[in-house]
Amino acid sequence: MNLLADIVRNHEELIAIRRDIHAHPELAFQEQRTSALVAKRLTELGLEVHTGLGKTGVVGVLRSGVSTRSIGLRADMDALPMPENNRFAHCSKNPGKMHGCGHDGHITMLLGAAQYLAEHKNFDGVVNFIFQPAEEGGNAGAKAMIDDGLFERFPCDVVYGMHNMPGMATGVFGFRSGPTMASSNRFDIVINGVGGHAAQPHNSVDPIMIATEMVQALQSLITRNKNPIDTAVLSITQIHAGDAYNVIPAQAVIRGTVRTYSVEVLDLMEHNMRRIVTKLCEAYGATGELDFVRCYPALINWPKETGFAADLAEKIFGTDHVDRTIPPFTGSEDFSFYLEKVPGTYLFIGNGDGNHRIDTYHGMGPCQLHNSNYDFNDALLPVGATYWSKLVEATLTA
Ligand SMILES: [Zn+2]
Ligand SMILES: [Zn+2]
Repeated sequence: MNLLADIVRNHEELIAIRRDIHAHPELAFQEQRTSALVAKRLTELGLEVHTGLGKTGVVGVLRSGVSTRSIGLRADMDALPMPENNRFAHCSKNPGKMHGCGHDGHITMLLGAAQYLAEHKNFDGVVNFIFQPAEEGGNAGAKAMIDDGLFERFPCDVVYGMHNMPGMATGVFGFRSGPTMASSNRFDIVINGVGGHAAQPHNSVDPIMIATEMVQALQSLITRNKNPIDTAVLSITQIHAGDAYNVIPAQAVIRGTVRTYSVEVLDLMEHNMRRIVTKLCEAYGATGELDFVRCYPALINWPKETGFAADLAEKIFGTDHVDRTIPPFTGSEDFSFYLEKVPGTYLFIGNGDGNHRIDTYHGMGPCQLHNSNYDFNDALLPVGATYWSKLVEATLTA
């Protein structure tokens, strides 16, 4: 590991910052303490600090030399509405809230880089440190910052983000060019039938029977309507209807999520879902409505920037620490909003493959994200901070 000595020297301090943030998790758009901590730190380091973008977002600007070339580095700041099972000293002090996705570590790695770069200024151009609220749960803090003029106020030629990945060896870097994470979309289907006495179904139009058939029919879109080569997931996660044993309700509601990598497949899914919802209800004498909301676009990494970032990781850490073709996955991530506007890539850093946190609930394997026993691996702090620093120096060569 070719780590920067001036970052390794701060490792204990970075651990203390990370654990402080971990102990005080805040949910989407409520990151008041966290953003104040970030703003204070960046100010102490001598950066120009802007707060209040996308409610609780913070941007720190660091300039060196005369060039107007620019780079954006992003860390997400929000925690999850879930309990923490860990009992170590830095576990969550806010009941029902937890840094279960490692955003505490993402913040700290970026702060570590800000400190190094502010002290050394071995680059020529502008670095925008983007601390973003509300990545989790479809809250789209990235979009909120963009809507607040992020890229107009802080132009970025390129933008990069990094997420830790449990199951990948500690400090190994993962890259992928092209579609890497799926779009996230949610839907509400309302089936309006005619309610009535359960003993006299002939006087009603039963929305529950239609709902159960609709669940099956919608799955046929995956296997019969789209090209088998294309990826799409359709999961129904809620069915709500009825309150009594002897009443046929007038309405049933179905909710769920659709994930795809391309807009074309998403268009196809939405179009055909609408057809099934409308026509199936019509076939049984009911009416059906589909409300389809596109939340996060698919995350498409730019080839040139992905190659550049992967080459650099190989140069710093060696080819055995870099996986250039990690498999795509159907999770989603609002970093995709940045990549719709600005070239860049979203990369991954291994959080450990079993030696770090063991999933005590399932009794085996590394603890995954959003698990109550998860914890960000502090060993990554100087690794991620070193990578960010060298990425800036390589992009904005002095
Ligand atoms: Zn998460
Ligand atoms: Zn996350």
